[in-house]
Amino acid sequence: MNEQQTVTVTVDAELCLGSRTCQHMAPHLFRVDGEVSAPIRSELVEQSDIDRARDTAHACPFGAILMSDDH
Ligand code: SF4
Repeated sequence: MNEQQTVTVTVDAELCLGSRTCQHMAPHLFRVDGEVSAPIRSELVEQSDIDRARDTAHACPFGAILMSDDH
């Protein structure tokens, strides 16, 4: 049986300025509604989704995307 890691992804609405970088990079993971982004799914299990979300978090110009396994 494989052990699967679950990573929680959140967007800090105070930091997000709606640049839409996340929506462009990962439209299956983030959606900007109005001026603030939100994760489409807050719990990620697939490694490809986790990697994509991490790349997107690094690309966010305001550091608004937070992942539970970041230290
Ligand atoms: S890239 Fe960052 S600042 Fe831009 S919409 Fe996404 S979370 Fe907000």
